[in-house]
Amino acid sequence: MKQTFDIVVIGAGAVGCAIARELSRTNLKVAVLEKENDVASGTSGRNSAVVHAGFNNKPGTLMAKLCVEGNEGFEALCQELDVPYHKTGKLLVAFCEEEMQTLARLVKQGEANGCKGLRLVGEEECHKLVPQVGGIGGMLSPNTAIFDPFLYTLALAENAHKNGVSFFFNTEVTAISREKDGFTILAGNRAFSASMVINAAGMYSDRVSALAGVEGYHIYPCRGEYLILDQIAKEYLPLPVYPAPHAGIGGLGVHITPTIHGNIIIGPNAEYIDEREDYATLQSTLDQLFAEAQLLMPALKRKDIIGAYTGIRSKQAPPAEGGFYDFVIKEEESCPGLINLIGIESPGMTASVPIGKRVADMVREKLNPATNPSFDPTRKGILRFAQQDPDTKAKLIAEDPDYGEVICRCQQVTKREIRQAIENPLGVRSISAIKYRVWPTTGRCQGGYCFSRIAEILEKEYGIPPEEICQRGPGSELFSGKVK
Ligand SMILES: Cc1cc2nc3c(=O)[nH]c(=O)nc-3n(C[C@H](O)[C@H](O)[C@H](O)COP(=O)(O)OP(=O)(O)OC[C@H]3O[C@@H](n4cnc5c(N)ncnc54)[C@H](O)[C@@H]3O)c2cc1C
Repeated sequence: MKQTFDIVVIGAGAVGCAIARELSRTNLKVAVLEKENDVASGTSGRNSAVVHAGFNNKPGTLMAKLCVEGNEGFEALCQELDVPYHKTGKLLVAFCEEEMQTLARLVKQGEANGCKGLRLVGEEECHKLVPQVGGIGGMLSPNTAIFDPFLYTLALAENAHKNGVSFFFNTEVTAISREKDGFTILAGNRAFSASMVINAAGMYSDRVSALAGVEGYHIYPCRGEYLILDQIAKEYLPLPVYPAPHAGIGGLGVHITPTIHGNIIIGPNAEYIDEREDYATLQSTLDQLFAEAQLLMPALKRKDIIGAYTGIRSKQAPPAEGGFYDFVIKEEESCPGLINLIGIESPGMTASVPIGKRVADMVREKLNPATNPSFDPTRKGILRFAQQDPDTKAKLIAEDPDYGEVICRCQQVTKREIRQAIENPLGVRSISAIKYRVWPTTGRCQGGYCFSRIAEILEKEYGIPPEEICQRGPGSELFSGKVK
């Protein structure tokens, strides 16, 4: 049986979730279909986690306009959605006069885009801002910020869900047919109908477009690997440090960035690859990243490395050309009712809500929906016990003894928080769903202590047989059976 909606959004990354949230301000019936088992399973959960200011993008492009708009609204949005955000600023470092000139041009470009407060800094101020950094001077962007991209995407989704949007995970769209009054969308053995389809499928947006009969787009996957360092940012790195940009295949250069959780990340490189989901991290690349980061900051030590990850850019620019093409956000003339979002690479996280608003306006113009009278823009996240003062901690433990049981020692995550993560509003139950919601398994021991404890809670308290406990979703089952 077909499930009927006004709008089907394909893809639960930051872009699909932002669109869904904007549409939940109307009375339209909206569904989000996602092939993986949780939000932010694609690029939205694998990036630099920086709220860009918008000076890197070519003036007049959608990328520039929507990035600046996104940056301006990000702090208020994070407050509304209870998402961790920190306006750190960002320093770009020059090692020669030519690079200083590049930075001077970047200030002008940023001003043309509407970025505020950009300025060049001399060697002394540069070293005052980040004592450990090298270079002869740099450029300061005061409005750049860091945030948690997973919690951000999750918060958009949870808020959309609270306002009436339905989410379907493990639901890969495999066919789209256009009929007289709309579309039929097939996803495995499920069928949906909708008046409009919004293609926010990221890396697969060209293929999803082709499913609806609109050919001609091509996404080239371009891998970016990162190293994760221990929680030493407080000691070394108050703000992201980037090299002066060089013309290349389409990244911002290997940078050193503090994360909102206090780690440092180093990366990414930019390498065109054949497979769209080849998330491998290569020793040779990681060595190269570390060497490049040490040029920026000689004090970095290999002993602080605790992990690595990969994100993949969905580039429209072919390898021979490199660089950036502008975002495509449009209703297809040859397929009325299909809105395509193609090539939403960086700064797509920063621009996600302005993108969502733009798409919602296109839908409003076409369908003229009424507003949702009970729309609530707020969402409350899970209280982090470790961040509370001693009195509050004592009060919390008195209220619920589960606050007194620490499950993840590295990150001080309590049983109460693990339970809240398991009982999340989107109904996703996997180890990584818990990890991204309250951050266990991400410390120095990388889950050595807490992983089996979390599995035990899932089994004993939620009745999930061990053989069904997954890292991410079907196909990533962690246990094959009992050994004794
Ligand atoms: C290395 C790197 C660093 C970056 N750093 C930053 C940064 O610091 N700041 C910033 O603003 N931006 C950054 N970006 C860009 C940003 O991450 C992306 O622009 C953004 O995540 C795109 O979101 P999305 O929702 O379009 O795509 P995705 O997050 O990839 O979401 C698309 C979703 O569609 C799903 N899907 C695909 N096909 C189907 C199908 N057939 N059926 C159902 N579901 C489907 C996928 O599983 C996926 O979950 C970076 C990107 C990379 C790669």
